[in-house]
Amino acid sequence: MNKAELLKTYFGYDTFRKGQEEIIDAILSGRDAIAIMPTGAGKSLCYQVPALMLPGITLVISPLISLMQDQVKSLNEAGVHAAFINSSLTEIQIVKALALAAKGAYKIIYVAPERLESAGFMQFASQVDISMVTVDEAHCISQWGQDFRPSYLKIVEFIDRLAIRPVVSAFTATATGEVKEDIECILKLKDPEVVVTGFDRENLYYSVEHISGKRKDAFVLDHIEKHPDESGIIYCATRKNVDALYETLFKQGIPVARYHAGMSSEMRKKSQDDFIYDRTPVIVATNAFGMGIDKSNARFVIHYNMPQSMENYYQEAGRAGRDGENARCILLFSAQDIMIGKFLLEKKEFEGTDSEDIEFLKQRDLYRLHVMEEYCKTTQCLRNYILKYFGEKVSAPCNNCGNCHHHYEEVDMTEDARWVINCLAETRGGYGLNIVAGTLLGANRARLKEIGAVSYRSYGMLAHRKEADIRLLIEEMIREGYIYQTDSEYSVLRIGDISGLKSEDAYVGIRKMEEKKAPVQKKRKAKSTDALTSAGYKLFERLRQLRLMIAKEEGMPPYIVFSDKTLIDMCAKLPGNEEEMLDVSGVGENKLHKYGRRFLEEIAGFLAENPGAVVSMAEGEEGG
Ligand code: ADP
Ligand code: MG
Ligand code: ZN
Repeated sequence: MNKAELLKTYFGYDTFRKGQEEIIDAILSGRDAIAIMPTGAGKSLCYQVPALMLPGITLVISPLISLMQDQVKSLNEAGVHAAFINSSLTEIQIVKALALAAKGAYKIIYVAPERLESAGFMQFASQVDISMVTVDEAHCISQWGQDFRPSYLKIVEFIDRLAIRPVVSAFTATATGEVKEDIECILKLKDPEVVVTGFDRENLYYSVEHISGKRKDAFVLDHIEKHPDESGIIYCATRKNVDALYETLFKQGIPVARYHAGMSSEMRKKSQDDFIYDRTPVIVATNAFGMGIDKSNARFVIHYNMPQSMENYYQEAGRAGRDGENARCILLFSAQDIMIGKFLLEKKEFEGTDSEDIEFLKQRDLYRLHVMEEYCKTTQCLRNYILKYFGEKVSAPCNNCGNCHHHYEEVDMTEDARWVINCLAETRGGYGLNIVAGTLLGANRARLKEIGAVSYRSYGMLAHRKEADIRLLIEEMIREGYIYQTDSEYSVLRIGDISGLKSEDAYVGIRKMEEKKAPVQKKRKAKSTDALTSAGYKLFERLRQLRLMIAKEEGMPPYIVFSDKTLIDMCAKLPGNEEEMLDVSGVGENKLHKYGRRFLEEIAGFLAENPGAVVSMAEGEEGG
């Protein structure tokens, strides 16, 4: 079979995506290759398709067990013989798997980098024909990245020891020049074909919401309630935040899991599985969660706190919408996040790094935090901000992000700021945001009477403002350093360095957001569920139920049975027989054989019950 036939037969896709063919062709011509493509771009196919065409075995080095398991499940579902060898298997299982592999049972074998150092594995490798070594998540080789894995450095020794040097290919989503050079040099790639596709993920909608404290909980809750069937991840900066938000959501009856490094490994595994298998479609987690999560149908990623860097943010937010369908990446920002960020950096440990480097790394971390803060504050196109940071040329605003859909009104609040300081002088730095804002508003609250705030000079001085604006003002003053907020459990506001406020040309402003009327979505994809009518949505739901049932029978995550995108395409195409079913994006021969009949029956049943139902509004082929 040629590569296009393989793509159709095993993976069920009609066309290659950007960059895929170049990489596949280079590998097939015997050249080394590096592919730098964003998350969800389809890097796996770039080595899986040639692996099926090359004479021998392809070894894929992958950093995480869950990642390997996911990939191997997907491949086996597609009818490709693949296996993994890692520490989740017993010694006996490993010996068995290697014996099978030596007999040619698998075209693709996933291994953890540590495995390459074991004598048993080396012995196996010297007996068989290895056509290609693929290094997935290749940025793990670089100390510049966040996920440096020392054992990745051993890969090249392994390759050098093989009797015949195989093709070496490397894949990553990390774009920086340093990482790319590290990959090329450390892996000793020979004149590699380098393919870098654009970093833009058109299906992701970015937005930043300026809200603080418990109002963040309300936002998250509201978002989940408005999108009850959707799967999503909520990232928090600290374990404490994870636990608190988890409890809040759980008490509201939301099927939610949590994940952080303070939990036992069994608990973490359970949470991760519950999420992957859609038993709890929502998960609250620290950034310890996610690498190795290829769940394709996450429809939103909410950051409860500002992450430490754009690199982190893009990776974490990028876990939304891997199936190419529209998804949202929302960052909830408050001034306190900057303090949390700095605090976490101070706590960060640099084991085994010499002191000069530590200083350098600390400066770099602070700079990255600053870039992130600017992202939260910019009024420019968010997508362009991200792309520019990663070194891409940008053109017009995207018209598909929070900032493109809003315009901002700048309000001069310099005089108000001075009143805030007066109020803090009167509270003697003893109270938090609620009391201070309430006092300035002149709110009629028992607590204010109790502490005597009603007799302050500042009481009611900002009564003409909205409470939300006063909160925004205080946050802005925290950013400017005029005020600081203590880190203690009961955090209070204190006067910071206000010399700047005293000068003639002092200026403090807030930006208020106004929703533009009827935003036009330029990059609207035709075939998201939005293109389904209400009848179509009903069918989609039925297909999802069927998928869930099959997934349970097979002990498989639902998205590995079929992606959301594939189900939506079924709704759009309404296949009536096997041939038409093969036309659906994501249906290959193996899956047609395993599940085709049941999905065809479900669709036929739906059409019989709803004669003449119009299920979709848009027609059109998948863009690729
Ligand atoms: P990553 O680049 O992050 O490793 P994956 O290889 O996991 O991305 O692919 C992401 C998703 O895109 C998968 O669901 C995969 O099946 C799908 N995909 C890959 N190539 C194509 C293609 N040519 N057409 C349609 N979908 C594709
Ligand atoms: Mg990948
Ligand atoms: Zn934009």
